[in-house]
Amino acid sequence: MADTTKYIFVTGGVTSSLGKGILAASLAKLLQLRGYSASIQKFDPYINIDPGTLNPYEHGECYVTDDGAETDLDLGHYERFLNVPTSQANNVTTGRIYETVIRRERLGEYQGKTVQVIPHITDEIKRRFTLLNENQKFDFILTEIGGTVGDIESLPYIEALRQFRYEHGPEHCLVIHLTLLPYLNAVGELKTKPTQHSVKMLLQSGVQPDILVCRSEVRIPSDVREKVARFCNVRLEEVIENVNAPTIYEVPFLLRKENLDEVVLKKLDLPLKEEPDFTYWKHFVSRLKNPIDEIRIALVGKYVELHDSYLSISESLKIAGAENELNVKIIWIHSEDVNAENVDRLLKGVDGVLVAPGFGERGVEGKIVAVRYAREHQTPFLGICLGMQMAVVEFGRNVLELAGAHSSEFDPKTEHPVIDIMAEQKKVTQMGGTMRLGAYECTVRRNSLIHQAYQKTRVSERHRHRFEFNNAYRKQYEKAGVVMSDINPDTDLVEVIELKDHPYFIGTQFHPEYKSTVESPHPLFLSFVNAAYAHKTGRYVEKTQLPAEEANS
Ligand code: GLN
Repeated sequence: MADTTKYIFVTGGVTSSLGKGILAASLAKLLQLRGYSASIQKFDPYINIDPGTLNPYEHGECYVTDDGAETDLDLGHYERFLNVPTSQANNVTTGRIYETVIRRERLGEYQGKTVQVIPHITDEIKRRFTLLNENQKFDFILTEIGGTVGDIESLPYIEALRQFRYEHGPEHCLVIHLTLLPYLNAVGELKTKPTQHSVKMLLQSGVQPDILVCRSEVRIPSDVREKVARFCNVRLEEVIENVNAPTIYEVPFLLRKENLDEVVLKKLDLPLKEEPDFTYWKHFVSRLKNPIDEIRIALVGKYVELHDSYLSISESLKIAGAENELNVKIIWIHSEDVNAENVDRLLKGVDGVLVAPGFGERGVEGKIVAVRYAREHQTPFLGICLGMQMAVVEFGRNVLELAGAHSSEFDPKTEHPVIDIMAEQKKVTQMGGTMRLGAYECTVRRNSLIHQAYQKTRVSERHRHRFEFNNAYRKQYEKAGVVMSDINPDTDLVEVIELKDHPYFIGTQFHPEYKSTVESPHPLFLSFVNAAYAHKTGRYVEKTQLPAEEANS
């Protein structure tokens, strides 16, 4: 059967960090709202097999999919915008491409040929361009090519794109180039030269972009648009303005105003179908921008200098805040800076404490002190993964008086390894992709806090860890008031702890932040935000519901 899928590629010019991921997610959203199915993938030109082994300071958080892939944070944007899960196939790196080709070479599959960038690497890239279509047919596959045009490491991708487009024909394949028009204060003008050069660079590789999306700090006057069109071989309507938006969730509106979705559909000879139905999305953005009140959440982590390290957490808080018509102000607290002397000053007045996931010993004592503050001050607490583990350690040391209780990750000789390595992890020696990763089912205990939030007893959540609650201590903890409110039915692994004598104290071994989307905010973030509001005001939020006739999805 002929491949009817349309392929849209997003390349970047002039500088990095222009927001290719947000552009791809916003365009896919517009197409989805018109009734088309779309999926987005990202190709990253680095040699790591995946970002799982990267320090978050390098590229921000590592996002985890249901099928256990450790991926680029842009996949989080894709899921939050589209409300469709991504998978291993949605994120490909140069390392993975080479790994596949080299494995094949070792198996003798190239039959004595010299293995080269062209055609072998480019063929593997092209094969992966279409891979998402293997299990499910999409109307559109959007592919974000990481990096900036002109980078040496991006060259094989641009070459693969050139070939792919030639082979599939322009009616099936479109290239959108995201570029920057810098504003020069001294002359009061937007400059087009860097864009002209970056398009020339693409042309040198044989790729003419079909559409130019121009990031700019100010509105782009028509003469500047005309200039871009003239120098870059595109029509005027194919020059799309992308000014800085107050929030990333408004970018779909801006691009709609600029007609990007219509231009795309017309170029690909597809019907416009229905006008995008923005009802839900508009409602969300309006609540996001018009909160009735504000809560302050302390986010305690060791990578707080780079907020992207906790991107899914901060977006989940934002989304849950909007749902409750609250602005969530995050107070970023470096876990290394927290100690018993200053914790009162640092956390005084916050409405909730969130202790973040993490690896390695740096900052764990500060996390434990922050947990203690939240427990003793009856402040709503959400501990995620390492945050939950440190809550277990804190309770062990300070309530159960288990001297020196710790996670064996940080103190392998501790007398009380209340958090211990999972049995299946003991034999693991390789770092990449070997943790307990991805979605696992859990059984939620009735009448628990999380049951109130989920309103169901079976849930599936995503994981990324090697250590777990040590069940040898379970009875002791339960006796002292810890509720194990979520247990994995197959392994008996404790997934969630709560405290009986506390208004809201939850530690999750899994990562709820990976499953919170605009259209489906995560119940635990919603309940945490609501508890923080109750902490501040003494009452819970009464949500204004989306009017029934408006609830389009
Ligand atoms: N380092 C801990 C573990 O491996 C926690 C991991 C995390 O927070 N994602 O179990």
